[in-house]
Amino acid sequence: MKRSEMLHAVKQKQGYFDMIIIGGGATGLGTAVDAASRGYSTLLLEQHDFAKGTSSRSTKLVHGGVRYLQQGNVSLVLEALRERGLLIQNAPHLVRNQSFVVPNYDWWEGPFYGIGMKVYDMLAGKLGLGPSKNLSLEKTIEQLPTLEKEGLRGGVIYYDGQFDDSRLAINLAQTAVEHKAAMINYAKVTELLKTNNMVDGVLFTDQLSGKEFKVNGRVVVNATGVFTDNILKMDNPDSKPMIAPSRGVHIVIDSEFSPGKSAIMVPHTDDGRVLFAVPWNGKLVLGTTDTPVDKPELEPKAMEEEINFILKHAAQYLTGNPTRDDVRSVFAGLRPLVKAGGDGSDTASLSRDHTLIVSNSGLVTITGGKWTTYRKMAQDTVDQAATVAGLNINECVTENMRIHGWLKNTDHSDPLHHYGSDRVEIEKLIKEKPELGEKLHERLPYLKAEVVWGVRNEMAMTVEDILARRTRALLLDAKASVEMAPEVAKLMADEMDKDREWQKTQISEYEHIASAYIL
Ligand SMILES: Cc1cc2nc3c(=O)[nH]c(=O)nc-3n(C[C@H](O)[C@H](O)[C@H](O)COP(=O)(O)OP(=O)(O)OC[C@H]3O[C@@H](n4cnc5c(N)ncnc54)[C@H](O)[C@@H]3O)c2cc1C
Repeated sequence: MKRSEMLHAVKQKQGYFDMIIIGGGATGLGTAVDAASRGYSTLLLEQHDFAKGTSSRSTKLVHGGVRYLQQGNVSLVLEALRERGLLIQNAPHLVRNQSFVVPNYDWWEGPFYGIGMKVYDMLAGKLGLGPSKNLSLEKTIEQLPTLEKEGLRGGVIYYDGQFDDSRLAINLAQTAVEHKAAMINYAKVTELLKTNNMVDGVLFTDQLSGKEFKVNGRVVVNATGVFTDNILKMDNPDSKPMIAPSRGVHIVIDSEFSPGKSAIMVPHTDDGRVLFAVPWNGKLVLGTTDTPVDKPELEPKAMEEEINFILKHAAQYLTGNPTRDDVRSVFAGLRPLVKAGGDGSDTASLSRDHTLIVSNSGLVTITGGKWTTYRKMAQDTVDQAATVAGLNINECVTENMRIHGWLKNTDHSDPLHHYGSDRVEIEKLIKEKPELGEKLHERLPYLKAEVVWGVRNEMAMTVEDILARRTRALLLDAKASVEMAPEVAKLMADEMDKDREWQKTQISEYEHIASAYIL
């Protein structure tokens, strides 16, 4: 996957792409995979790096949504559980079965959550990951040795999926390319092109060279998450906003605070929120919050009260009482929640979770939903987009399609396991040049070879791309990631033929971004 080749493909393109997709998060990438694998010529444009937006900032769960079950939204849970099963089947190197324990402190919680989780199991049917069970006090402590024991009566154990969000995003981009899609990061759409009031292309700026490109498509899909309204405004300056962004914050601490294999799920904190403490890549991810925000941004910042909320509740459930000093990283993401009513044009709400709109100009907008359901969202979008474009309706083939890197029986103790079938290629790099086998930082598992691999094969263009999304150093230990930046910049510069000035700028830009992840 090489960016220069992708840009070249666009320059050489005669006539129209079948589909142009704006936005390289879960939704846009899934749509590109679906469109390209049905045989449509596809171009995806992402203004920054793939998954720079919400799609690298999730809780990393592939889940049916126990919360939606509590709200009685059975159809949504059913759809998500089905997609969970398909994703484990299609990307087993990235999605794993994770046990969760709901700790019970009140007498009614055992029977209540016990029955709720049985319904969850039943809805998952054959795609279930394991039967839920009520646990005795002893068994609960066995699963979660550092759980607050005062008043504890027992727990309920259930199973859901866990994944690496930005790695899946990169693997989806690679899968789309394998089906001949052109995928360009750092390509910002600035204008929609129209003929007879119908959208038939876009103007985009290559953010790295500053050059502008015009490109035509039979249909244009707006998959820009919390930025959806910006594109709708390009189409119709009078369009009413349909997105109400909501910020979710996560805190990452060392796994010693909950050394067991199970995650903790608190369905109802004392102020009525859901709280997770999930083991992830050798750390513990705590979250999350739900705070309405006025406007979308690519680097949302966690507020003090959100950090305090998470730490206060974590201390209620974990005997180690984590404090600010224990925080390795804090990250925030924006949920693209859809306001009721949308912009009033032809709305086809195919599920209560995601919203698909066709504007009068033929612009197709897909938004809402969640990572877990990205494949179904993509299927619905491409069905709709092909109709708008007047293309032959080719059948969707993604249900049983392997995602790039597919590998069964992954050994999760191998530091390169999340590369799946690409792991052997990285090992070859190390064999050719043994110093690439050295670690980039003593506190993190990442190797120098991963930087070289990321530049050569995964379209990493900046130090941030490597530290935030090709590896997860920024989220796992932000301070360590800053210490890694000079070496990463040097390795990248060697690969990309960049000078010392480029390295200096990259390091200082990275330090600026990472400073917001450090408390
Ligand atoms: C805190 C939090 C926790 C979550 N946890 C989970 C979870 O555990 N499991 C789950 O299933 N889901 C979860 N979700 C939901 C899930 O992360 C989102 O639904 C999903 O990532 C949204 O993807 P998207 O592609 O629609 O948006 P985004 O990922 O934001 O992608 C949109 C992209 O469009 C690009 N873009 C915008 N404007 C332009 C332009 N003019 N030109 C080119 N590109 C442009 C942006 O740069 C961005 O990369 C969570 C969400 C949040 C906020």
